[in-house]
Amino acid sequence: MTDRPNIKGLTFAEVEARIRALGGEKAGATLGARVYKGILQDGFRTFGEIPGMAKERAAIADALFSTTSLEVLSVRRSWDRSAKYAFKLADGNVIESVLLHHHGLWTVCVSSQAGCPLACRFCATGMLGLKRNLEAWEIVDQVVFVARDAGVRVSDIVFMGMGEPLLNEEAVARAAEVMTSTPGLQISKKRIVVSTSGVVPAIHRWIDAGRPWKLVFSLGSAVPEKRLKLMPIQERFGFDAFLDAVKRYESHRGGKHVTLEYVAIRNLTMGDDDIEAMRTHLRGFNLILNVIPLNPVGNELEAPSMEEARAFTAKLRGLGFPVKVRYSGGKDQFAGCGQLGRSLLEAGTPPK
Ligand code: SF4
Repeated sequence: MTDRPNIKGLTFAEVEARIRALGGEKAGATLGARVYKGILQDGFRTFGEIPGMAKERAAIADALFSTTSLEVLSVRRSWDRSAKYAFKLADGNVIESVLLHHHGLWTVCVSSQAGCPLACRFCATGMLGLKRNLEAWEIVDQVVFVARDAGVRVSDIVFMGMGEPLLNEEAVARAAEVMTSTPGLQISKKRIVVSTSGVVPAIHRWIDAGRPWKLVFSLGSAVPEKRLKLMPIQERFGFDAFLDAVKRYESHRGGKHVTLEYVAIRNLTMGDDDIEAMRTHLRGFNLILNVIPLNPVGNELEAPSMEEARAFTAKLRGLGFPVKVRYSGGKDQFAGCGQLGRSLLEAGTPPK
């Protein structure tokens, strides 16, 4: 065990300040940039591996920072260049991340918790229960590893992997900050998206803190009784409070659209009553609706056929807001939405 902070959980300014305090102004400026780029951008696992790094300088960095990495358990690559990664944490818990390739851009879908306590019915991770929150460096390291393994420059991050990001708010915010650091991963803050199932107080805190990363919201269903059954979080934060928080977020963004995610489930969320509920409850919102056809998770919920999904979205377009059917890359590798954690369940080896 070490009490040195992991460099992958620190911003460049923090790293520079610590080196400066120990080794003087010059060391702070030059060594800081070398080690930060070497570990976070180039993906080296230790300071000593960074090309041209003198032993004494690596020792200064070693005295200040840990470079512990996640242990990769498996990589499953898909025909469309997407890939799913399973990582083992130091305590034996397992998390998953997904690399997605779309229109020449590379997105990493990261996990923020090992498991999840919220038990959404359409989600495999929800069946695992919560194991623990991830630390910021454990979130950042998913991106560092995937970028190096695939040899790509990652442009987009989505917090849509295992876990509810707003139940691990501080670590998620820190990880997002680190991901935007130069000369590290250098992801644009506009290209980091955090998806929440509706942790209402945390949405308000996110707004009050002026956090720049975009929130998107999982609607589940616009019929409050159905949403309650699909997303038990509604027992804690009611439907109206959820929509009020979304509305406040929309105002906070200066009236720019908000994105709602909607899982299309055959015989459950694709009926005329669902469309009428959207007409009633979403009136006045400036929104984009992302429809995600269910990927079955092994319970009674059924996926729609392609034709059913098309017919449903055609009806939704009559409501007057943009509707998209979300690309679900790597589906053949169980890398689609809601699939993270499924392979762990199927293998009969849920994280401890
Ligand atoms: S959809 Fe998200 S919030 Fe719901 S159980 Fe899955 S990981 Fe948790």
